[in-house]
Amino acid sequence: MSDALAAAIDTDAVVIGAGPVGLYQVFQLGLLEARAHVIDSLPRAGGQPAQLYPDKPIYDLPGIAACTGQQLTDALLAQIAPFEPVFHFGQEAQTLRRLPDGRWQVATRAVHALGGVTLRARALFIAAGTGAFAPRRLKLSGIQAWEGRQLFYRPPDAADLPAGRALIVGGGEAALACAIALAESGRHTVTLTHRRDAFQADSTAIARWHALRTEGRAQFIAGQPTDFEAEGERLVALHIADHQGAQQRVALDALIVLQGLAPQLGPIADWNLALERKQLAVDTERFATSAPGIFAVGDINTYPGKKKLLVCGFHEAALAAWGALPTLFPGRAEPPLQYTSSSAHLQTLLGLR
Ligand SMILES: Cc1cc2nc3c(=O)[nH]c(=O)nc-3n(C[C@H](O)[C@H](O)[C@H](O)COP(=O)(O)OP(=O)(O)OC[C@H]3O[C@@H](n4cnc5c(N)ncnc54)[C@H](O)[C@@H]3O)c2cc1C
Repeated sequence: MSDALAAAIDTDAVVIGAGPVGLYQVFQLGLLEARAHVIDSLPRAGGQPAQLYPDKPIYDLPGIAACTGQQLTDALLAQIAPFEPVFHFGQEAQTLRRLPDGRWQVATRAVHALGGVTLRARALFIAAGTGAFAPRRLKLSGIQAWEGRQLFYRPPDAADLPAGRALIVGGGEAALACAIALAESGRHTVTLTHRRDAFQADSTAIARWHALRTEGRAQFIAGQPTDFEAEGERLVALHIADHQGAQQRVALDALIVLQGLAPQLGPIADWNLALERKQLAVDTERFATSAPGIFAVGDINTYPGKKKLLVCGFHEAALAAWGALPTLFPGRAEPPLQYTSSSAHLQTLLGLR
């Protein structure tokens, strides 16, 4: 047995994506007594609603007049708690392999650390939305060699970052918070660069940033990175071009890039599943992909009439769970349809009795 197989975790179902549809998939699987492990490249659950519009109200969920993206996430997590799903956060699904016994093996790669997990299941549910959210990286060829050493895509702890010149790239909340924390630490010479001298952050942070600049504890450069300089093993400078194209060389010891997150379909595109315009083609009876035992639900899938709405994704998750039953439990008779409002069995599963 290879190391990968020895360390593999066996489960009934693997769900890729802890967005709203992946979470609801866990619920529907739980009602059918299937245990699920859930993988997400982000450090927490919620997908787009939690990541992109946590404080915005959603008005088109059935029977709920309004709820924010974060409230929806919290409610879905509470709803699936009785089924005790196992989450693997900060893990991007990388490779897919069919095992000789017909099960699927998914291996992950840790996004910000070393290591990954290997999961084996009869059924795989891909609820990967528009893809794995990953930091928007600098598009400077070769600079990735310094990632994790002098180039960071997450805000470092000011106390952990060796004293020196820190150059921060970005114009949002995270970039500003990082620039403020490093400037206030007194151990770093801070430069923040962004396309323009305007920030998407709350007014308190913006006021604090301007105060630090006025006090001479931080500086700002408007422009975009165009090149970098290295000396031997060290990254020593970034070149920044302003709107007129004039170049400025900024010496640095640490480069922290906080330009937000962008979804990338990534490795799933290479899994030999039928795709239509970068989405997984499915049927509308079981939301099955072109591979047996692999289902796709939510924003990642496509079929005639597809609408990328939460309510559609939830419907798909319910039918995918039922459609996967023969794969999940071969030979077991399909249970009758039961209602959570009246079934003692389902209420027991939900921990209500
Ligand atoms: C601003 C905005 C407002 C919206 N408002 C509404 C609304 O009012 N009503 C409505 O119905 N819809 C709305 N939507 C659409 C709705 O958010 C999406 O339809 C919904 O989030 C889709 O859910 P999902 O679970 O399929 O995907 P997502 O929410 O995208 O979640 C997918 C998850 O999969 C993870 N993932 C992807 N690939 C991998 C991988 N390889 N490995 C590990 N993890 C992976 C991602 O990190 C992510 O967490 C809105 C969308 C946006 C952007």
